[in-house]
Amino acid sequence: MNKTSSDTSGAAEKSGNSSISAKDRVEALCDLLNEYSHQYHVLDDPSVSDAEYDSLFIELQSLESQDSKLIRPDSPTQRVGAPPLEGFEQVTHEVAMLSLNNAFSFDELVDFDRRVRERLEYSEKKSVSYMAEPKLDGLAISLRYEHGVFVQGATRGDGKTGENVTENLRTISMIPLRLRTQKPPEVLEVRGEIFMDSQSFADVNKAQSDAGLKLFVNPRNAAAGTLRQLDSRKTAQRRLSIYVYSLGALHGSDAPLTHKETLDWLATLGFPINPEAKLCGGPKACYRYYEALLKRRQKLAYDIDGIVFKVNDLLEQKELGFISRAPRWAIAQKFPAEEATTQLIDIDFQVGRTGALTPVARLEPVFVGGVTVSNATLHNMDEIERKDVRPGDTVVVRRAGDVIPEVARPVLEQRKKGARKVVMPCQCPVCGSPVIRADIDVVARCSGGMVCDAQRREGIKHFASRRAMDVDGLGDKLVEQLFDAELITNAADLYALTLDPLAALPGLAKKSASNLLDSLQKSKVTTLARFIFSLGIREVGETSAASLAEHFGSLDVLMAADVEALLAVDDIGPVASASIRDFFGNDNNRQVVQQLIAYGVQFPIQEKVSVEPVLEGNTYVLTGTLSEMTRDEAKAKLQQLGAKVSGSVSKKTTAVFAGDSPGSKVTKAESLGVEVLDEAALINLIGPCH
Ligand code: NAD
Repeated sequence: MNKTSSDTSGAAEKSGNSSISAKDRVEALCDLLNEYSHQYHVLDDPSVSDAEYDSLFIELQSLESQDSKLIRPDSPTQRVGAPPLEGFEQVTHEVAMLSLNNAFSFDELVDFDRRVRERLEYSEKKSVSYMAEPKLDGLAISLRYEHGVFVQGATRGDGKTGENVTENLRTISMIPLRLRTQKPPEVLEVRGEIFMDSQSFADVNKAQSDAGLKLFVNPRNAAAGTLRQLDSRKTAQRRLSIYVYSLGALHGSDAPLTHKETLDWLATLGFPINPEAKLCGGPKACYRYYEALLKRRQKLAYDIDGIVFKVNDLLEQKELGFISRAPRWAIAQKFPAEEATTQLIDIDFQVGRTGALTPVARLEPVFVGGVTVSNATLHNMDEIERKDVRPGDTVVVRRAGDVIPEVARPVLEQRKKGARKVVMPCQCPVCGSPVIRADIDVVARCSGGMVCDAQRREGIKHFASRRAMDVDGLGDKLVEQLFDAELITNAADLYALTLDPLAALPGLAKKSASNLLDSLQKSKVTTLARFIFSLGIREVGETSAASLAEHFGSLDVLMAADVEALLAVDDIGPVASASIRDFFGNDNNRQVVQQLIAYGVQFPIQEKVSVEPVLEGNTYVLTGTLSEMTRDEAKAKLQQLGAKVSGSVSKKTTAVFAGDSPGSKVTKAESLGVEVLDEAALINLIGPCH
């Protein structure tokens, strides 16, 4: 359960107070959860994470289960969603639209299956089949067809009464306006989820930001806000999607016998069904499905927050029936939350390789996205300003997939009085040198250069890293250890290391010390491009390093090049050329480079390509996750074939190759009329990478 604290309600704070009576706690929880539910379901503007809501909900459920007299009629455990908005006509659902009970672990799923089999009076041996479907993070709607024609669409609302959003639903092209059958049922109600895919969400928020409007917190809120527009032209402007997953009322036709047959039938009538839906025999198969989809979660084009398992046999479903707000025949197995709420203890500043000061949030540890997070990046001061995050705030922390955890936003309702904004320190927290922020730079930097311990440490880590000198076995931790033991102060010192002092380091046996020396020896033979990149010159990434190596062909010529000569290199602009000049103009840096060469670092192989540069003159941009190769591999191959690979889209871009979950680059390309191609087209062009 998440640690939470709430200044405004005081309810969560009271949770730790054993003297508070269960009755008072239930009262407080009901009020707080009803308020959160109103913000979420009615205003489409939640102030806390779903995980926090869920943990308070579970606490309330558990208190109520110990004493049923405590259950208030307006308790969120007894209700579905929230009443419909006033601006819309109300629709009474012929068949109620319910919520789902949740499971958070495999054990809870097994318990659910046991309860199902017990109710059906099945023996241990008789298993139940479940239909597994991704739990789309959108909002439920009901579509009503009379004699095959779409006549009405409504939101779930409080389960009994929803909002009439027919006109808005008509703008969604995935919804058939007429059923694809000659013999339509008299009445057919179809239930499904309206959602906004990740690309459309990015587009909508970009448009909100351009217009100076408030951003949507997540695709669910964006979808809900879009569907509940009073002006359907606004709904039409944003791309909403739908998958349908069950029936409501049905008159004048026999119902199918299983849930799977229902989905197949709905597909023949023209409805979109999630292609991921799959039949699973028993809880173990269900869990395997859950785990497989959890792994692929980030690759899907839309957000899901878990898997719904539904008893497949509709007669069994009927026998199992419902409890207050949810069916007994279905369960939602939730994924680990990607967002959680916690306390921001303080904001520290970390100094990076180029002196950049990065604000880092020190957090009360919180479990999010499957790991415990106690630090999260805040990127830069502009970001802190934009998000208005202050030490002492309750904040929402986000960690999606393997992405670095970040502070998404503060919970302003819970801000303590007098919470102060953080200011950029004037002096480097590591070496005390003045901190400077150049006009063109969003980043403030320590001006200490090589005097600054932090910059030196980070510089050595970069030097040894896989894409730079690729010193096998020399990770960040070991660099820190070597630095702390005063065995190294710069990159060149690495090549002066000897066995005994290395083997004396805690945790480093003789064998690994000797392996490290071998790796260092091996790393000395490299390419000029890699060497230039490994120096960690500001503004010189891998691409520019390769261009510099190609253009100058020798380190001496590069070191002697003036700004004008540097500007003649592809990819090198005024900022990079000034930075290269500064770097080689610094005596300390020149000395380190000379020492490295003296220790035997050499570049016998020029990274000249032996293949025909058939893509010369073309510039490509890569975005999203590729499944058959990494973006780096694709980039290297494109470059080998003579193409340029750029990080940003412009009119000069030949094409953008987009993998899964691409970013805003696709939108930019579309707006500039630049072709957007998929991974298959990329492989077609460059061949496989493995
Ligand atoms: P729910 O979202 O947990 O589950 C029910 C809903 O799942 C259905 O109504 C339907 O819309 C959806 N769904 C998606 N895919 C489906 C599928 N394949 N089959 C069937 N249904 C599918 O329940 P809810 O009642 O809509 O909302 C409760 C949840 O909302 C809570 O668990 C919490 O996470 C969140 N919530 C958050 C806040 C907040 O302030 N952050 C407030 C209230 C509720």
